[in-house]
Amino acid sequence: RVIRPAPSGPRPLQVLAVASEVFPLIKTGGLADVVGGLPPALAHHGVEVRTLVPGYPSVLRALEGTTVVAEYGYFFGAFCKLLAGRAAGLDLFVLEAPQLFWREGNPYSAPDGQPWPDNPVRFAALAHMGYLISRGDFGPYVPDVLHVHDWQAALAPAYLHYGGRTKPRSVLTIHNLAFQGQFSRDLLYAIGLPGHAYSMDGVEYYGGIGYLKAGIRFADRVTTVSPRYAAEICQPGAGMGLDGTLRQKGLALSGIVNGIDVDTWNPADDPALAASYTADTLELRARNKAALEGRFNLEAGDGPLIGMITRLSWQKGMDIVIETLPSIIAAGCRVVVLGTGDAPLEAGLAKAAAAYPGKIGVFAGYDENLAHLVQGGADAILVPSRFEPCGLTQLYGLRYGCLPIVSRVGGLFDTVIDANAAAREQGVATGIQFEPVTREALEAAIARFVALYADTSAWRAMQRQAMSLDLSWTRRAGAYAALFRSLVEVDSA
Ligand code: ADP
Repeated sequence: RVIRPAPSGPRPLQVLAVASEVFPLIKTGGLADVVGGLPPALAHHGVEVRTLVPGYPSVLRALEGTTVVAEYGYFFGAFCKLLAGRAAGLDLFVLEAPQLFWREGNPYSAPDGQPWPDNPVRFAALAHMGYLISRGDFGPYVPDVLHVHDWQAALAPAYLHYGGRTKPRSVLTIHNLAFQGQFSRDLLYAIGLPGHAYSMDGVEYYGGIGYLKAGIRFADRVTTVSPRYAAEICQPGAGMGLDGTLRQKGLALSGIVNGIDVDTWNPADDPALAASYTADTLELRARNKAALEGRFNLEAGDGPLIGMITRLSWQKGMDIVIETLPSIIAAGCRVVVLGTGDAPLEAGLAKAAAAYPGKIGVFAGYDENLAHLVQGGADAILVPSRFEPCGLTQLYGLRYGCLPIVSRVGGLFDTVIDANAAAREQGVATGIQFEPVTREALEAAIARFVALYADTSAWRAMQRQAMSLDLSWTRRAGAYAALFRSLVEVDSA
């Protein structure tokens, strides 16, 4: 038998991604960044991705080179077409169903903030179309792996299961366990599931139908956006009701840390900074620090400056920060906060800023450019989250030599190496970790920060180490490619 090498390497692996959001077309959170960031990065690893998304107005407006793959007079109560085309550099399938998805604004809720009442049907339709494509209804395209994201797409592996299919193999990625897609059991037939699917071993979840639960149950692999978070959510509490189902996955549950867009976030070439810089020109950061002091009306100085860029919410630990601010100032630090969110936290911050003029600066708003300046000018970025599936601000901080001071949870645990004696000796330290999220622990972390910062050469060494890390999607995508490949190899073995 003569084995000829393929002329252009092995056949690329075909992955069908299904998601409700994709950057830059439609975004409410980190989910969109992952769904938009992975395909170009996976292409470097021999994986071709096509992404199925709902036909929201912003998606349909951007779609180019459109072809109609299929047309249905009645699909989950709606007239619909499956379109194929490209937008924002991505190969897309789009479920065009105006009755379900032609709604401006937030994809999940009406202008009054209430969830659309037909959300269970809308996203069952999306998942079901993912299932039809996966099983080869629109050949010649048949994916090797089905990759579904969050509850909106999570029913697809259940459709495969109840359709009697074991292929393609499926992966569910959980970006936010807080959104689980739990709906009434009365919908079972409307969403095309058989009666026996309503069981503890099926899609039943606390007396209703759980979309995310179904995905966890029937996907061949489940991933979260950091390894530590994958372990944490197997515990009651962090598991938010799903810990038992997650524990049953055993080794089929793992975590892959998110990448960042290293072009948008590049201190060597960042128009939002007063001065761009590299690990070899860290002294230029002083200009950004001065610009930051100006923007936040802080008194000028060389002393340690702590930045925060965050939603103001319980998750992010801002209440503890507010409580600790007097000690942080007493320790000789200045603080800038860029954030919006819960009104009581905004009020608490405003009060603190008024009590410490020149020491604490607060900007209550969302400002992308200012976020860059904080990363490029502050000495440390504080991220005291109570839980954190992955976290991006600490990753941007690492890339900008704005060293993270983080709570020891989730993706923060996985991405920041605490400056303990051993880590410093090895030259791998990149920040400070603390636990639990209390005032006492935060005070101790600040004291450690102040001492480290005072040792300029040690601090600079940590900054250079942090800035040398490869945080790109290209690298992270390798872990997804390996996971997808392991599933296909299991099949062909
Ligand atoms: P989460 O998604 O839970 O809010 P992440 O750390 O994963 O937390 O991502 C937050 C993202 O939002 C980061 O890109 C951060 O820079 C950005 N961000 C948050 N608040 C603001 C703000 N007020 N202004 C500008 N950017 C912000």
